[in-house]
Amino acid sequence: MAGALMSDAAVVHDLVIVGGGIAGLTIAWEAARAGRDVVLFEQADTTGGMLRAGAVAGLDVDLGAESFATRTSGVHDLVVDARLPVQFVDPLPAGAHLAFRGRFGRTHRAPLPRRAIVGMPADPTAPDVARILGAAGSRRAAEERAMPRTEGAEPSLADLVTQRFGAAVAARLVEPLCRSVYSHDAASVRLSALHPALWEAYERLGSLTAAVDALAPATRAGSAVRGVEGGLWRLASELRAEALRAGAVIRTGTAVRELRRKDNGTAVIIDGETLDAAEIVLATGPSAAAKLLGASVAPAEPVRLAVAEIASRALAAHPVGSGVIVAQDVATPAKALTHVDAKWEWADAALGTDVSLVRLSARDGARIDAEVDVARAVRTLTGASVAPSAVRSLVHVEWPDAVSTPDARTALAAAAAARGIRLAGAIAAGTGLASVIPHARALAHEILATTPQEGARHVR
Ligand SMILES: Cc1cc2nc3c(=O)[nH]c(=O)nc-3n(C[C@H](O)[C@H](O)[C@H](O)COP(=O)(O)OP(=O)(O)OC[C@H]3O[C@@H](n4cnc5c(N)ncnc54)[C@H](O)[C@@H]3O)c2cc1C
Repeated sequence: MAGALMSDAAVVHDLVIVGGGIAGLTIAWEAARAGRDVVLFEQADTTGGMLRAGAVAGLDVDLGAESFATRTSGVHDLVVDARLPVQFVDPLPAGAHLAFRGRFGRTHRAPLPRRAIVGMPADPTAPDVARILGAAGSRRAAEERAMPRTEGAEPSLADLVTQRFGAAVAARLVEPLCRSVYSHDAASVRLSALHPALWEAYERLGSLTAAVDALAPATRAGSAVRGVEGGLWRLASELRAEALRAGAVIRTGTAVRELRRKDNGTAVIIDGETLDAAEIVLATGPSAAAKLLGASVAPAEPVRLAVAEIASRALAAHPVGSGVIVAQDVATPAKALTHVDAKWEWADAALGTDVSLVRLSARDGARIDAEVDVARAVRTLTGASVAPSAVRSLVHVEWPDAVSTPDARTALAAAAAARGIRLAGAIAAGTGLASVIPHARALAHEILATTPQEGARHVR
């Protein structure tokens, strides 16, 4: 970073980034390696945002994101270009299950359909689909392919799927997938926003079955993701190191309180200090961004997780493969369970015999607090008999500002544009590293192409 010139002059930094999650770090690294004077502020004591580790069962395990979708090459390209010393790993081949309420109110568990997108099947009569829908539900879903395209304004995803595939696909497959993977209920989102490529294929082909058939990977659900040996949090940790090496200034434990527009840029107000920046990138969660932009977005439910070490031979036999996604009709506070050591070989190798590591994601508004709650949820979801005393260590995580709806993103984009501020991260690109990282890099390149390189300069 260029040094001070005159004592009565204000420093104008090329770029200030608010938020040190993976998006902010990506832009800091891109801008610093291009020689820009960049300062990143992160309110937490450490960077990484939703890529964060916590100690459970003697391991540093992911408390936020734990895998990335391979539908884009964004994560791979970043690791290669930044030469990050991380090793990509594939999940173990077991695949994930679905838990749903069957006849007589019993909880059933079945492997997720091999070929499906957001729960919509490529072949509604395939045995793995019929096992979940039943014969009648499967026959009804098969009618979708021959139906005329639904005309008029796009309905919610829940309505679209109910109209076209029937109620069983909506309730048993699409709703649980939508809630656990995207943290939205299917009635509050539209397919065009949730999965633009699938919507585009549907518009082109006139059938959702045909669209899924054209786009779904041929392999088991869950295999379209990869991870990082030792945990995905290492991606953010190594990227931070690279950004620092390239010359970025990273200030943790420092919340940006206000952004004030000026003639020559924006004043960035932190406790007891004001900085000036030619360009601002806002890469926080939606509520934090709304506050800094003076915009209004509806608050979303926090995302709550319980991560536990469990000693149980029945669970260590991996009864539900890499995990379970839960239909709404199952009585449990959990919406999904990841059996970490059944999914990642590095975790399996690090744990003792008959010990498992599970992540339970709570439903909106629900909590999984005590050992007894964890044991009950694990029993319901996996069928394995697990006593509360088998829960050896338990860590709770709450992500208060993790979910941005398409409506929130639209409102933030308008407020940011009006103030000359750029948005990055999930608030701009949507949830998930496969979207966030390529978007952040494209934004960084746009900033580098459209703004001159000044280095920290001083204006009177
Ligand atoms: C439990 C969970 C599991 C997930 N699993 C996956 C997964 O497996 N795969 C996947 O691809 N995605 C997953 N995601 C989503 C993924 O983690 C996010 O889409 C992505 O990490 C968002 O990165 P970001 O940089 O946009 O935001 P964040 O990671 O939220 O970073 C924003 C940062 O801004 C900081 N901040 C906020 N306000 C201020 C302020 N005023 N001043 C300074 N700093 C501020 C915050 O402290 C935070 O560090 C998961 C998310 C959660 C919560």
